[in-house]
Amino acid sequence: MSVENLLKRAADLGLAHGAFGALTTYRTGGVARGFLTIETREQLTTLGAELAACERITVLGNGSNMLVADGEYDGLVVHLGESFSTLTISPTNQGRTAVTIGAALDLPIAARRIAESGLTGFEWAVGVPGTIGGAVTMNAGGHGSDMAAAVTSVELWRIDEQQFADVDAENLHFGYRSSAIGPRDIVLSATILLREGVAQVSKEQLKEIVRWRREHQPGGSNAGSVFRNPPNESAGSIIERCGLKGHRIGTAHVSEKHANFIQADEQGNSSDVRALIRFVHDEVLRREGIDLLTEIRFVGFDE
Ligand SMILES: Cc1cc2nc3c(=O)[nH]c(=O)nc-3n(C[C@H](O)[C@H](O)[C@H](O)COP(=O)(O)OP(=O)(O)OC[C@H]3O[C@@H](n4cnc5c(N)ncnc54)[C@H](O)[C@@H]3O)c2cc1C
Repeated sequence: MSVENLLKRAADLGLAHGAFGALTTYRTGGVARGFLTIETREQLTTLGAELAACERITVLGNGSNMLVADGEYDGLVVHLGESFSTLTISPTNQGRTAVTIGAALDLPIAARRIAESGLTGFEWAVGVPGTIGGAVTMNAGGHGSDMAAAVTSVELWRIDEQQFADVDAENLHFGYRSSAIGPRDIVLSATILLREGVAQVSKEQLKEIVRWRREHQPGGSNAGSVFRNPPNESAGSIIERCGLKGHRIGTAHVSEKHANFIQADEQGNSSDVRALIRFVHDEVLRREGIDLLTEIRFVGFDE
């Protein structure tokens, strides 16, 4: 089944379609051949066979960890709609509280709602501008914690098997900014386990984290840290040591505020961002012998 056939079926069901690169936090990159916003679980079962037959699929959250190539993406982008933004709190009998969060909900919103409800352990997420789906897939983290510290299970739609699956944390094989969730899995929700806390204390932590981020990280168009930190070192410090702060290629430059952030200009393009990422990688390898690995996901590039 081609992307066109899938889109025709989707249009018959009244589903939306739109751009791609413009929806990422880099705001660079092209449109997709197909774009599908899924609003209900039933739509996944209805479109299951057509989705499974699509060779190239990218699931898009907030695009805050993604660089999309310029030009047309020759595949289908799947995005979850508003109805996947629920948050349900259920006390367990072991003194902990389970929170089940829809994959489309933004981390900062989830962090604030959880803090207000008097639970603690998710404050770190207030500064990460992704969705729960993207955060579980990437094992996002910060301020000494990460998704792996709290996730007990996730609900997936497995594109190729055309079925829902509940997967326990131990089978998600969380690593540093990685998980076993593959490109043909769609995270629909995640359940995390948290402790009782004090709402006022959590709210103060949120404020402090937001203040710290404003002070240490740039605004503008970027996708957060470009490279993973090597063991016991910060990629930002290494890049700074190589004198690359402010280095520019075309419409992209290394942030003056945080050397592991690469910024795109307002009218920027992904080719420049990609070229600068490669340049920084090669310079760090040449000068320091460190082979930095990227954290951000590249979509639609040849290699
Ligand atoms: C200013 C800034 C600060 C940041 N700070 C941090 C930080 O402190 N810590 C950190 O870890 N990250 C940070 N990031 C990166 C990013 O916000 C996280 O990785 C976030 O979890 C990505 O979520 P997303 O919804 O934007 O995912 P996207 O960028 O849309 O996607 C990332 C990956 O997840 C997949 N994906 C997305 N949604 C789903 C889904 N529902 N089902 C299956 N796969 C899915 C995508 O296909 C892709 O492979 C930062 C980014 C920015 C711009």
